[in-house]
Amino acid sequence: MELDRDWATASSSAAVLLVMGTRWTCPGPSLFVLFCCAMAQGDQDSDQLYNETMAKAFLQFYERTAQVVWNRFMEAAWNYVTNITKKNQEEMLYKDVEKSQHTLYFGTRARLFKIANFQDPDVKRMLSKLLNVDKAALPKEELREYNQILAYMETTYSMAQVCLNEGPCLPLEPDLEEVMATSRDQKELLWAWQGWRDAVGRQLRMTFERYVQLSNKAAKLNGYQDMGALWRSKYESDSLQEDLEQLFQELQPLYLNLHAYVRRALYRFYGPELIDLRGPIPAHVLGNMWAQSWVNILDLALPFPEKPPEDITKIMQGQHWKPEKMFQEAEKFFTSMGMLSTPPEFWTNSMMERPTDGREVECHASAWDFYNGQDFRIKKCTEVTIEDLLSIFHQMGHIQYFLQYKNLSVIFRAGANPAFEEAVGSVVTLSASSHKYLLNRGLLSQQHQDKEEEVNFLMSVALEKIAFIPFAYLMDLFRWKVFDGTIEKDMYNQEWWNLRLKYQGLCPPIPRSEEDFDPGAKFHIPASLPYIRYFLSLVLQFQFHEALCKASGHMGPLHHCDIYNSKEAGKLLEDVLKLGSSKPWPEVLEKMTGETKVSTKALMTYFKPLLNWLVTENVRQGEILGWPDFSCSFEERETGRTAFLGMELNPDQVRSGQWTLLVLSFVMLLAVLLLGRRLYTLEKTSLTQDTSTQDTRSQGTQSQSPRSQDANAIEPASKTYFLGIAMEPHQVVKRQWMLLGLCLFLMLCSIGLIIRIFTQHNRKPLWMRDEWGSWD
Ligand SMILES: [Zn+2]
Repeated sequence: MELDRDWATASSSAAVLLVMGTRWTCPGPSLFVLFCCAMAQGDQDSDQLYNETMAKAFLQFYERTAQVVWNRFMEAAWNYVTNITKKNQEEMLYKDVEKSQHTLYFGTRARLFKIANFQDPDVKRMLSKLLNVDKAALPKEELREYNQILAYMETTYSMAQVCLNEGPCLPLEPDLEEVMATSRDQKELLWAWQGWRDAVGRQLRMTFERYVQLSNKAAKLNGYQDMGALWRSKYESDSLQEDLEQLFQELQPLYLNLHAYVRRALYRFYGPELIDLRGPIPAHVLGNMWAQSWVNILDLALPFPEKPPEDITKIMQGQHWKPEKMFQEAEKFFTSMGMLSTPPEFWTNSMMERPTDGREVECHASAWDFYNGQDFRIKKCTEVTIEDLLSIFHQMGHIQYFLQYKNLSVIFRAGANPAFEEAVGSVVTLSASSHKYLLNRGLLSQQHQDKEEEVNFLMSVALEKIAFIPFAYLMDLFRWKVFDGTIEKDMYNQEWWNLRLKYQGLCPPIPRSEEDFDPGAKFHIPASLPYIRYFLSLVLQFQFHEALCKASGHMGPLHHCDIYNSKEAGKLLEDVLKLGSSKPWPEVLEKMTGETKVSTKALMTYFKPLLNWLVTENVRQGEILGWPDFSCSFEERETGRTAFLGMELNPDQVRSGQWTLLVLSFVMLLAVLLLGRRLYTLEKTSLTQDTSTQDTRSQGTQSQSPRSQDANAIEPASKTYFLGIAMEPHQVVKRQWMLLGLCLFLMLCSIGLIIRIFTQHNRKPLWMRDEWGSWD
């Protein structure tokens, strides 16, 4: 009854102090009575102790304590990421351990309840959620190490900078991101791209290996195969991976058409030196550090460049927008739908801009719930741009979710699944980026959009959302494979690029090696944040959008819809958000959309006009969808053509050239061997003849006439020919030796050339070689 005693003693606040080494809110008189009963019954049958009534008391106890412990951790974590110092890191790590102890304490006890016999589905669901204690399952020392690794990785990422030769060092936000977005100089882009990966990825390589080991150990202690399996368990679905793959396949026509179209646009701008019309796109010219969104190169890829969209960023700057106004604008959207407004603390506690007091901060945008029902914050280094305005709408979607479920148990204070959390803000950005909304908010002046302008508009949305599809998918495909061991640690970078080639049709602009760790240069990998939620959310947000537009009474094309001001849409959204994670997500989805499955139908409807235009355009240009040529823009392939013996040839011609050379050198080898053999015999004969001639001469002087001596000496020489010319044997031998030398020299040259061609081929990483096959 060791556990029983623990649990019973934990019912007094003094005991809690003992167990956790920290101050907790007293669970209250009714709970206290219950726990006294538990103590009294301590020696009775455990079935009675772990019954449903006791489970409810246990959960209430958990509730009160968790709110305090989580709040304290969130405070410490916030203090750290908004002021990165050693002291703040220590404080955060301390609070993190405290939170883990709490999680472990309740997780191990939750196991003792016989949930199968319980009636209340909420109690069953809550207890089952407590069973997963995540990293808290690790032994104390390893937990400490794991937390330190996580802090190290995230901080390395947040503090990294890339330095100019003789100038200042640039952080990712806003400087490097701006270079990637606005520069059209491929050397400058490469500098930022490579610099960022050297500054972050390379530094994390070794640590990441240990992170994987400890993650898997924690997962196994929770009863999962590996950490990937634990991450996937949040979706409560046995067919998650197959379902995701199917969604991905359904979206392929859109992505492949966009890819081919954008590749052509880049080819027009950068030329054949950089872009191969049959190959993958170099990852540094797509307007984004990770090539996950291509919207920043809209200017290069505008379907109707004679009708450019208005520059909303410029309009915002002209209207003197400030970051706070951008947050107010986003909040107004939710309140216009009759949804909740943020409490005053939000406006005083949030970090809306990068501080100017010299503090080191983590700039990656995020929304925070402090689990006390009144403190919610956003951290973002806002710049006045339309992209940041839409990103704030997204973050405010998280805050709205927090506000809506704040009265649920902390166990249910989460999205129906992680993708729901991401989809809420994004669904609002779909309305907020519509022409109707922007016009009403004074951010556009042109009253109407014609068909061509609509295609331009849809292209801008597609460059943001469709371009993101394969990236959002492969981020976790990569980590799942790392966690389950399919990708071994000496292949991390190579396999990363294999996936980027296979799914995104991208290649690195310069050769990469296993010294590099390019996945580490993306925030969610050092921050250990799962990513598949963004992929699912991408599909889900259109499904939500369609349902909310329908509720708002919208008629006409889906991309015209704006749910601003619609109380009906607001009510529907609110009803769903209020549920938190208290119900299985298919139920929640059904409540909003009438469907129980995630579907690409709404997304395809939204982009239908663009897809039609893209297909026509790509057929007109004779585009090849996919990337059958795997060559990248390394020095070997400067154009679609390859240099071969100083000539610019296409790959097929080069291949025939290589074969011809190979055959030629074999022929030469044979010729050399035959010639060598002939020479050997000839020389042997000539030596014999020379000797016999000399012998004959010496004998002849004694016995034969001078005339017959001459005839004997000249006779064999007159029969020796070289290339049809009769000459003396010693001359023939000399020339044949020269020929043999020449043949040998030519053969060596050919072999040298062949070796060079093959090593050039083999110098390419595995993922760039033809044997990796085509994928389309
Ligand atoms: Zn988000």
